[in-house]
Amino acid sequence: MDENGNEETIQFLERCIKDAYHACAFDIYFEQLTDACARVRFKIDGVMQDYRQELPLTVYSVIIAHLKVLAGLHTADRKMPLYAQVSSAKFARINLELGCSFIPTTTGVDLSIRILYTGEPLPLEKFGLRAFDLDAIRAVRGGVVLFAGTKSSGRQTLLWSALSDRNQQQQKVCSVRDVESVSPIPGLCETDARPGSGYSYEGWMKALVRMDADVIHIGTLTGEDKLFMAAEAALDGVTVMADMYANNAVDAIAGYLDSGKNVSARTLVAALSCVVYQHLLPRLCPDCKEASRLDEEDIKNLLLTGEGSPPEVVQATLERWLTEYGGKESVLLKYRARGCDNCAGTGYRGRVAVFEVVVATPGIKAQLLSHASDASILKLALQEGTFTMRQDAIEKALAGKIDFSAACQIKSAV
Ligand SMILES: [Zn+2]
Repeated sequence: MDENGNEETIQFLERCIKDAYHACAFDIYFEQLTDACARVRFKIDGVMQDYRQELPLTVYSVIIAHLKVLAGLHTADRKMPLYAQVSSAKFARINLELGCSFIPTTTGVDLSIRILYTGEPLPLEKFGLRAFDLDAIRAVRGGVVLFAGTKSSGRQTLLWSALSDRNQQQQKVCSVRDVESVSPIPGLCETDARPGSGYSYEGWMKALVRMDADVIHIGTLTGEDKLFMAAEAALDGVTVMADMYANNAVDAIAGYLDSGKNVSARTLVAALSCVVYQHLLPRLCPDCKEASRLDEEDIKNLLLTGEGSPPEVVQATLERWLTEYGGKESVLLKYRARGCDNCAGTGYRGRVAVFEVVVATPGIKAQLLSHASDASILKLALQEGTFTMRQDAIEKALAGKIDFSAACQIKSAV
């Protein structure tokens, strides 16, 4: 491609991808409107938002051609929908894995770019997990570990980092993939179980268990067969890591147990080790965030986390907050976004993950088998050290990482 003439266009693409990433948008849509122009929109929390209302077709065509070349696709193929993964590091100073879909339409071609995960897995310590949760994830030896979240929660990014972490701990890590994507971990034993690849999912799983894999990644946990194979391998001592869609950790456990109608609940419960629920919130720009004092009412609201904690726990929590976040004067602050040149006026830069990690301890397993209520399971989980996502978000708000109001909007699981 013509490097001089198109440099500006590639810079626009780089800026667009960086802006989408920092705005917590996982999908970027380039939509051809007419013979002369296209538009660019981001999907943020399920809502389409304008990014560039009119992008000249001359610029858009260069973007399409450039991505197709990087993906090794035929630039002239305009009739079929095409999909390929491209690393943004090939053209931008940000390393993200991009899933690019080229969809021919009646007006031309639409391009959707999905931000899949960062090019190289981040160290597990960099996600902002509490030490308690980090240790819990690392301590799992055998059993199913579910990485749950909603559609744009970054759960797969965390899952890849957990796999990379095991790889670095000198464990044998394998991945059975049934979707077209590339692993970000060099040297991972990766098998292709896509339909038509010549070997079944079940066959691969059996082969990997037989070769004494320590960890098997099975992608998204869907379908009864996959669930059964995951549970069987887990009961054989393998750590099986999967991702799934869920609204909170308790919901993820319920979804896991409900999806196996022909697999006994006893088997599924026995196989479960840990559920890691993740949600992303925009990170406050450190250069312009505004602080103000929390008043009595705010503090009362914060401590009402919905879990019915006894008064002594509430008091201890407040004292801990004052020690950890109150500074020398023991004053708790709340922060909100303002906007400056460094954050393009948005008030935010990057994202912060909030977590809810539930370990399937013998007590939790007993409750699951006796069909205890969600409230009862959560209560026990809290006693055993779980933090709800709301608790985690509030602490990150007190630390000035996220909006105080965004943290308060997060509901507890019950
Ligand atoms: Zn700023």
